[in-house]
Amino acid sequence: MTEMQLNNSPLIKMQGITKVFKSGAGEFTALDNINLEFFPGEFVGIVGKSGSGKSTLANMITGIDHPSKGNIDIEGHIINKMNESEMSVWRGNNLGIVFQFYQLLPMLSLLENVMLPMDFCKQFNPDERRTRALKLLAMVGLQDLADKLPAMISGGQQQSAAIARAMANDPPIMIADEPTGNLDTKTAESVFELFSALVVKGKTIIMVTHDPALAVRTSRVVHLRDGKVIND
Ligand code: ADP
Ligand code: MG
Repeated sequence: MTEMQLNNSPLIKMQGITKVFKSGAGEFTALDNINLEFFPGEFVGIVGKSGSGKSTLANMITGIDHPSKGNIDIEGHIINKMNESEMSVWRGNNLGIVFQFYQLLPMLSLLENVMLPMDFCKQFNPDERRTRALKLLAMVGLQDLADKLPAMISGGQQQSAAIARAMANDPPIMIADEPTGNLDTKTAESVFELFSALVVKGKTIIMVTHDPALAVRTSRVVHLRDGKVIND
C-alpha cells in the first residue's frame, strides 16, 4: 500500500470483472476476474503486451463496454448497471477520456471541440464556456490555435487539444488508452507532462501504455497478462 492508498478510500473499485467476447470462433476471455482499486490522486500506468486486455479494461471503466461478470463502482455508482443515457451524462461529468487517435470532431475548431462537453452536460454558464475552453487550450499550449481545425495541426497538438477537451467539465478522473501511442518520443514526453501536471492538481489518471519508459514514471504500474493482473 502506498501512502496515498492508506489515507484514502478508493475512487474506483473493479470487483470480480470478467469479460468474455463471443464470436463465431467461440469464446475468448479478455479479462479474467480482475479486482483492482484506484485511489484519488493516483497516476496509474496499465501495461502489458498487445492483446493482454488493457483496452478492454479501460473500456470497462469508461462504460464504453460492459463486463460479463462483476461490478465497477465509481464513487458509489455501479456504472455497469446504468442505462446508456444515464451513463453518457454521468461520464461527461466525471470522466475525461483520451484516445490514441485523439477523436476530435474534424468539422469543429479546437475551441468548439473543447466547448462541446460543456454544452452537452450543461456545465458552466453558456457565456463562461468559451472563456473556460480558451483557458484549457492555453493550459496545453494551444492558445494561438483555438480557431484551427484538427486537420491543420500536428498529432501532438491534436492530442493536447483532446486532453483540454477531456478536462472541459473538470472531471476527477481521466482515462487514457495509449495516448502517446501515435506520437514521436519528444511529443509523447510533452503529452506525458500534461498528464503529470494534472495529477499534481489532484486528478486521478489511469493511462494504458505499452511504453515501459513512461510507465515507470507513473505512481503505480498494473501489469496485465492474458486478462489477469500479474503484478500491481
Ligand atoms: P490490448 O489493449 O492489451 O492490446 P485488448 O483489450 O484490445 O488488448 O484485447 C484483449 C483481447 O481481447 C485480444 O485478444 C482481442 O483480440 C480480444 N478482443 C478485444 N475486443 C474484442 C471484441 N470486440 N471481440 C472479440 N475479441 C475481442
Ligand atoms: Mg489496446
